[in-house]
Amino acid sequence: MLSIEWTASSGWLAPRITPYQNLSLDPATCVFHYAFECFEGMKAYKNSAGDVRLFRPDKNMARFNKSSARIALPNFAPQSLIELISKFSAMEERFIPAARGYSLYLRPTMIGTQRTLGVGPPGSALLFVIASPVGPYYPTGFKAVSLEATDYAVRAWPGGVGDMKLGANYAPCIIPQLQAAKRGYHQNLWLFGDEEYVTEVGTMNFFAAVRDKDTGKKVLMTAPLDGTILEGVIRDSVLDLARERLVPEGWEVQERKFTMPELAAAADDGRLIEAFGTGTAAVVSPVRRIAWRGRTVECGLAEEQEVGEITKRMKDWIEGIQYGDEEHVWSLKV
Ligand code: PMP
Repeated sequence: MLSIEWTASSGWLAPRITPYQNLSLDPATCVFHYAFECFEGMKAYKNSAGDVRLFRPDKNMARFNKSSARIALPNFAPQSLIELISKFSAMEERFIPAARGYSLYLRPTMIGTQRTLGVGPPGSALLFVIASPVGPYYPTGFKAVSLEATDYAVRAWPGGVGDMKLGANYAPCIIPQLQAAKRGYHQNLWLFGDEEYVTEVGTMNFFAAVRDKDTGKKVLMTAPLDGTILEGVIRDSVLDLARERLVPEGWEVQERKFTMPELAAAADDGRLIEAFGTGTAAVVSPVRRIAWRGRTVECGLAEEQEVGEITKRMKDWIEGIQYGDEEHVWSLKV
């Protein structure tokens, strides 16, 4: 693990890479009481030539600093943390299988470590990075997921912290997830407000490909970054690639609010082409159907089909860049 301590009086101390080990913290440490914790999720990829690469680490660093600043924890120079994580990934290189779908999952984390029950800005902090090899999300090929729209809880709200990766955002999401699972769904879909805006799916961003009811044009849409949506690295990559590669094919790309009734109307008219979630873990996750208000919204896949065309192309494009098969500025060789 990589560890860097911080104190308000001395700033960041020297980084250390040590064997994975327990942390020893006083029970009064502020992280345990007031949730001074934020984290990132990123991966190191290795291709058959043995090159180790990070994917858009600058995006993770920017989000990490945004998260830590919101909970009164210090920032760390983004470029320096990328260099440290690169060094760490290179050291742990033997744990990264050189095969598509495999990677080393990296978990940068920051906690407030001050021993105090007083509520205030932490006077000390610890930044650490741990890692674990991970295999393909879909080892036997894509499996489209069924979602349950959650109508009794919200994940994020305007002026809240849903656009940050705070640990405190995640614990309250488990019960709605378990409830959906109990009723046979893989994930829950987070809606917001009386309008039932579609926001995110589980811990992924959500995309829908629809045919516009007025123009007949094919539209790829996702919710805008209005403070209630996590700024996913894959979300941003899908949008960029869509603008570069799908728009010339006649697609429109829209970051805008859309509602569950709108999605259901598109499905009813046969205009919902496909839907998918995006995130570092799976890259893309095809959605088969959404249970909502006692009905089922079918998301464009035929019964025997596990993935839509745009979903599949996005996965191929992004993985191609992540593993260095396509040379791209997003891929950083460590
Ligand atoms: N939304 C939430 C709530 C998440 O936790 C994640 C995973 N970090 C995402 C979206 C997807 O983000 P990314 O593409 O950066 O993995």
